Amino acid sequence: MHCPFCGASDTKVVDSRLVAEGQQVRRRRECVNCHERFTTFEEAELVMPRVIKADGTRQPFDEAKLRGGIQRALEKRPVSVEAVEACVTRIKLALRASGERELPSREVGEIVMAELRKLDQVAYVRFASVYRSFQDINEFKEEIERLSANSDAAPGSNGRG
Ligand SMILES: [Zn+2]
Repeated sequence: MHCPFCGASDTKVVDSRLVAEGQQVRRRRECVNCHERFTTFEEAELVMPRVIKADGTRQPFDEAKLRGGIQRALEKRPVSVEAVEACVTRIKLALRASGERELPSREVGEIVMAELRKLDQVAYVRFASVYRSFQDINEFKEEIERLSANSDAAPGSNGRG
């Protein structure tokens, strides 16, 4: 790993720890030449299934696009970068776990929504509203109704009946 400051090839690791629920290794490195410090993140590379679009074309799984979509949905939400990374990793593991070499984009969307829902309810609704507007608008309405019904039954609100 070359130093990003001076280009020297000799750097040493000064700190190393697991992040993103153990799916990444964060390393602090110091350049032996200029003594600048920088951080690297290491993650096992998973072979991802290809995505079958609605028109039947196949596309490589695009992690940057996935992360971008999640970040847009999380705008102004109190969710850490680390939690987002862990979420992205869980989605990739779930896609891998399907055991398929190709997956319909609809199935990918469902997996993303299931993970987003665990991460942040608001982000989930935002993502689902964009995603499902191209799918089944009625199913989405039901989901919203179900969610708001759940929040009515939250602890502390005793005004039922
Ligand atoms: Zn250097």
